[in-house]
Amino acid sequence: MVELKDVSVTYSSGVDALEHVSLKINDGDFAFVVGASGAGKSTLIKLLLKEIDATSGTVTVNGYQLNTLKKKKIPELRRTIGIVFQDFRLISSMTVYDNIAFVLRVINSPKAFIRKRVPYVMGLMGLKEKAHAYPTELSGGEMQRVAIARALVNDPKLIIADEPTGNIDPELSYEIVGLLKTINMQGTTVMMVTHEHELVKRFGGRIISITDGQIVYDDIMEGTDYET
Ligand code: ADP
Repeated sequence: MVELKDVSVTYSSGVDALEHVSLKINDGDFAFVVGASGAGKSTLIKLLLKEIDATSGTVTVNGYQLNTLKKKKIPELRRTIGIVFQDFRLISSMTVYDNIAFVLRVINSPKAFIRKRVPYVMGLMGLKEKAHAYPTELSGGEMQRVAIARALVNDPKLIIADEPTGNIDPELSYEIVGLLKTINMQGTTVMMVTHEHELVKRFGGRIISITDGQIVYDDIMEGTDYET
């Protein structure tokens, strides 16, 4: 769950990146956040991860009240969130399997659990055949599927996908959003940030549009070729 109440962010340079933003994304929802470059999308993501603090207003994520959250609790908050980046951020020296398993190894998950969970998420993402491949041996779409599997492996409450289709072909972009939709249907809240209006229109659903730090639209739009 994500809730912003009257949130503004002013950077030390004086730029107002977000102005009086209020929004709520409930558990189990799927929301697209759209906006041009400079609109405030990255600022919103940084707020949710508590990489920056709101200048005013309150931010709640997955039950954590971020304004008052102690520094030592930040890793706990971040473990409830899976993130997918535009540039994949896979570890090039590790296989697909190890890129995904790594997330669980660093939090000391039991080995038996890792051996079950990693193949399961690889299966969901259609990556079973690629378990032993290295990132350089994969296509952009495959790399992004690994990144989604990695975001998903720790069973987060919320997945934030930051321009996940920015580096892949349009047809594969459609597939990537479809995978995020499938994950959402299994109960994970998904917030996908993008500037690709065409893709969003095809899928439809909840669309939150930001312009110059303000929410100018937040409603459900019917997709042109996707059944929800
Ligand atoms: P988007 O992700 O939609 O492209 P950003 O959130 O990165 O937008 O930026 C929103 C506004 O805040 C822009 O005017 C940008 O130049 C400014 N901005 C972003 N990061 C910083 C920063 N660290 N310091 C000062 N200004 C920033």
